This record gives sequence, C-alpha cells and structure tokens, in this order.
Amino acid sequence: MSLATDRPVDALVRFEDVKKSYDGINFVVKDLNLDVFRGEFLTMLGPSGSGKTTTLMMLGGFEQPTLGHILLDGKPVERLPPEKRNIGFVFQNYALFPHMTVAENVAFPLRYRGITGAAAKEKVRQALGRVSLEALGDRRPAQLSGGQQQRVALARSLVFEPALVLMDEPLGALDKQLRERMQIEIKQLQTSLGITMVYVTHDQSEALTMSDRIAVFHDGRIQQLSDPETLYNAPANRFVASFIGENNSLPCTLLGWEGGLAVVRMADGTTLKAAGANVSGMGVDMSISIRPENISLAGQRPHAGFNRFSGMARDVFFLGDHMRLSIEAFGGQLVTARIPALQARHFALGTDVAFECSISECRLLEE
Ligand code: ADP
Ligand code: MG
Repeated sequence: MSLATDRPVDALVRFEDVKKSYDGINFVVKDLNLDVFRGEFLTMLGPSGSGKTTTLMMLGGFEQPTLGHILLDGKPVERLPPEKRNIGFVFQNYALFPHMTVAENVAFPLRYRGITGAAAKEKVRQALGRVSLEALGDRRPAQLSGGQQQRVALARSLVFEPALVLMDEPLGALDKQLRERMQIEIKQLQTSLGITMVYVTHDQSEALTMSDRIAVFHDGRIQQLSDPETLYNAPANRFVASFIGENNSLPCTLLGWEGGLAVVRMADGTTLKAAGANVSGMGVDMSISIRPENISLAGQRPHAGFNRFSGMARDVFFLGDHMRLSIEAFGGQLVTARIPALQARHFALGTDVAFECSISECRLLEE
C-alpha cells in the first residue's frame, strides 16, 4: 500500500511500515500501516496472540518498533517516553495502586506533568465525576467492585485531558451485563469528550457496538479495516468472515463471471452465483461464505437474484425467537441456517427441503 498518496495527512496517529520482533527472528507485528483519525473510535479486534497489545504498547511508548515509524500529530515519537506522549492508557488489569486511595490513583498521572495542589484536586474531582465516582475518592481499590475499579482506571486515563486514550481489553474481567453497560458508557464518554480512542478487544460484539472503524488483526497483520457494517456484510477474506459473526464457509470452484457475479461449482456439482470480494483469479482455493440469517426456506417459485439449493434438514434447535437449522447440502456439508421460529412447521426432519439465499449475500472468498 502506498503511504503518501491515498491517505489524508491529518491523522492523529500514523503507523508507517511498523514491524515488531521480540526475539529478532519472528515478527509479531508485520508491515503495519494504519491511520487513526481525530475523534474516532478505532478498535483493534483479533484473537489472542495476533499482535494487538504489542501494537498498543508501541503507540503508548512502552515498546519500541523494530522497524518503521509511529507518528503522533505528524511527528515521529519513537524517542518520546510514554509520559511525554500525552496519551491516556487503561491496561488490561486496571493496574491501580492498592496502597493509594482512589483520588490518589487518579491524581497519579498529574504528578508527572507537574500539576499539583488545588489544580490537581479540581481535575481529579472532574475526572471522578465523569465516571460517577465523586463520592468514593477516599476509598482504596480493594474496597471497590470490579466495575468501580474499572471506572477509576478510566478516570485516571482521562484526568490530564489527553487527546488520545488507549484501552487494552478494559472490560475483560467484568460479567456480561456490566460489560455491556460499560461499553455504552465508554463510548458516550469518548463522544462527549471528543477524544480519539484506540481500543483493543478480542470480543467481536464489543467491537461492533463501540467502534467507528475496526481493524481486524490476525497473525500480526491487519486483515481488514472498515466500519462495523462493512466488516459484517462484506468480509474481505475467510478469516474475517468467520471471526466476525457466524458464517458458513463452503468450498467451491470458480467457473467464471457473469454480469459481475461469480459462477461457482459446489462440491456436489450444484452451481451457484456469488458476489466476489478480493478474488485474484481462477484455480485458487476458494469458498463461499453465507451467514446463517441469510438462508431461508424457499417458496414455490424461484426469486430473481436468489440462489436456490436443496438440503436435508438434520437437526433443529429452538431458540425462542428463531430456530437454528442444521442442513446437509452440497454433498455432505453441514450448513447452518437461522430461521424464524414460525417457519419450523413447514418442513420435517430428514426430508429434502428447498432453501434460498440472496446472491448478494453469498460472498466468494479466497484464502
Ligand atoms: P494480543 O494482544 O493480540 O493477544 P500480543 O501483542 O500480546 O497479542 O502478542 C503477540 C505475540 O507476541 C504473541 O505470540 C506473544 O506471545 C508475543 N509477545 C507478546 N509480548 C511479548 C514479550 N514481551 N516478549 C516476547 N514475546 C511477546
Ligand atoms: Mg493482548
């Protein structure tokens, strides 16, 4: 990817050809090129070990890139220590000081910046107010719930009013309900304060909920960078398709193109049409990706713009508002469909049933 030409220059953060190796042999971050725009909420999403924390640590100044540059406000920051970067940081484990009170914890970053006395007190009061903890300044971390401790860490990252805040799996230790509430609170804080956020998570629904853009990491590389809807509806490759949401990945052979659509042959000889993403050519190992919610029972007559295929209903699971259907199709492959509960009466297990799926929602992917 070329750097100078196709990227706007007002990015707050720019990674330029950044590579990182801890052992001098393997790169855990490979060729990272990424801009983070002012005021955006950008999430790095990926499985464990994909290089997210390493990337965040390099941006925060806690690790050095082995090669390449990181620009903050257009200036290289490799030589700047963390406290000179004006970046707020919430670590994975909160990292609160147990022997300090909540207020002292929040005031900690101010010391480094020479802010003390009444000015510091006022900033701490404001920061605690933002996370609704004004009343708990005198407590120690151990006297707080997990959610409250997390809020203290949040207040501490905001107290010196940084333009950029980095968070590394900050909600990992919380239960699901609290997690979902905090996702919304963090997002609201980010928007109302107008800060730029780089957020790390391995949780796809968290990323979809909070982000303006998501960079999907796998094996030290960004697989796709886009807004949540595009990521979900138009995954660039098989990894993204299966990491974000549920996905049926069905091997196929590309036969050719017809009016911009790919014509493919499935394992049992059935031909289907599909929308092609980044397909380089014929004869590559390919698959069709179909989301379970995009498969439905077919009506009597074929619909224009839809693929039709038949399969045997093997299993059905009732999930309240919908049914999950396990279908054997294309010569022995199991395909999952998600169907409104009311339609379940329209077929019997062990029989052949006709299904359909919009061609635009069948995506041809390689690799
Ligand atoms: P993620 O945050 O996506 O789980 P990390 O950036 O923590 O990924 O790790 C990426 C790879 O780098 C992993 O293989 C991990 O074992 C390795 N790694 C991370 N930190 C260190 C370190 N300090 N020293 C050596 N290897 C590390
Ligand atoms: Mg990590």
